[in-house]
Amino acid sequence: MTENLNYICKQIIKQSVNKMLKLYNTLTKKVEEFIPIDPNEIKFYVCGPTVYDYFHIGNARSFVMADIVRRYLEYKGYNVKFVMNLTDVDDKIIKKSNEERRNANDVTTDYINAFFEDITKLKIKKATLYPKATEHMKEIIDMIKLLVDKKFAYNADGNIFYDVKKFSGYGKLSGKNIEELEAGSRIEVNEEKKDPLDFALWKKAKDGEPYWESPWGKGRPGWHVECSAMSCKHLGKTFDIHAGGNDLIFPHHENEIAQSEAANDKQFVKYWLHFGFLNINEEKMSKSLGNFFTAREVLKKYSAEAIRMFFAQAYYRGPLNFSDDLLSAAEKGLEKINNLVDKINLEIRKNISGAKPGFDFDSYYKRFEEAMDEDLNTSQAVAVIFDFVKEVNRIIASSESVDVNFYDDVKTFLTKTAENVLGIVDFNKKNAGDDKLVNDLIELLITLRTEAKQNKNYLLSDTIRNRLKELGVVLQDSKEGTSYKIGKN
Ligand code: AMP
Ligand code: ZN
Repeated sequence: MTENLNYICKQIIKQSVNKMLKLYNTLTKKVEEFIPIDPNEIKFYVCGPTVYDYFHIGNARSFVMADIVRRYLEYKGYNVKFVMNLTDVDDKIIKKSNEERRNANDVTTDYINAFFEDITKLKIKKATLYPKATEHMKEIIDMIKLLVDKKFAYNADGNIFYDVKKFSGYGKLSGKNIEELEAGSRIEVNEEKKDPLDFALWKKAKDGEPYWESPWGKGRPGWHVECSAMSCKHLGKTFDIHAGGNDLIFPHHENEIAQSEAANDKQFVKYWLHFGFLNINEEKMSKSLGNFFTAREVLKKYSAEAIRMFFAQAYYRGPLNFSDDLLSAAEKGLEKINNLVDKINLEIRKNISGAKPGFDFDSYYKRFEEAMDEDLNTSQAVAVIFDFVKEVNRIIASSESVDVNFYDDVKTFLTKTAENVLGIVDFNKKNAGDDKLVNDLIELLITLRTEAKQNKNYLLSDTIRNRLKELGVVLQDSKEGTSYKIGKN
């Protein structure tokens, strides 16, 4: 009773402090107010990559959008337990390991490392946990056992199948009904399953495949049950948000619901979030169609901030066409923000006091939050940031000297919104502007040293040379003049 009251009080406080975030829930097919199960910690699960190759920029769209949702929840003051699984048992992994004549573990280790390199470059915040299927065999087998005991699953010669017709809610996420699905499917020759809709929870080992021991003999788990078992272990039987790309609604997420709810007799997930496809020539970008660019390829051409802005400027549930023009436009658009970022960094270093212009920061925070609260209208949120930059630039241009506190406040706004939520700005990034500044300063010192030598002030000219050397800048005199090299000799 006290616990309940405590919970209700916390909800009321939280809701009065935070405006309500509204999200489109694939399960209810409605935009709903987001009410966390436990306001002290939001439990968020995202289906991660199958680690048999580099991920492509289509996958990156889903990963970045999930990252933005997570960061916005944190902006609103929530703690978020964010779990992304790594699928490291799969047919595609086995195929790759056979092709490359390496064991599956070596293949997945390489691509897991590559995955972390790429998400770091994309400024995607590390998840709280990255559970791997191979490290959760006990939980996976336990869940399958429970489903067999409860007669939701059956054994067919060492393969365990989920009996879809036993689960009355099947189809509730995707909106498909069993009769229609049945009409569109057929049993493959030699398949042991009773019904074409049934799906594998456990696959009997074939020769040369990696396997684990189980009560049904040697084998490996199906993909769907991995996510059910790992999300339950790390986030509980019912948790707040489950996300992934649109392609996962059916069958993957539909099957996750069937497994988890049959095993636990509880609602599995409150809010289901799905991200639109990144297309290429109006067709889904995918490994199997071969129409993809890896994220690491695209990152060689465009900055992480531009890629994130390209995603953020689109409606997250709708399709988005991969476009060099839009990516270049994002890069160009960012120059406006980055020029201001450089100016802010410079002014904060200078630390000058002066007139503090009247500026309604709150109205910009409010507009940013209103956009994000309205089912993650990230493109509107980006527009608010551009309006803000324009207004700040206008003020700077019209004032003689502006107080450093103003720049601090401008920095705080951009850090909280553009950097920490959208990830389209990086205040600590070493940029071309910094390189140019370093170059200009060294050239200035070279000129002063030349003048000192001409004035026979050898003490000063030697001091400049030696002090620069200590800093790792080596001066080289020649007939043409003095040049410099960065390095110890
Ligand atoms: P996979 O490694 O294929 O399991 O995919 C990892 C994540 O990327 C899943 O959430 C997919 O739904 C998502 N995904 C795959 N292709 C695309 C695409 N073209 N656009 C957006 N998301 C995608
Ligand atoms: Zn999954």
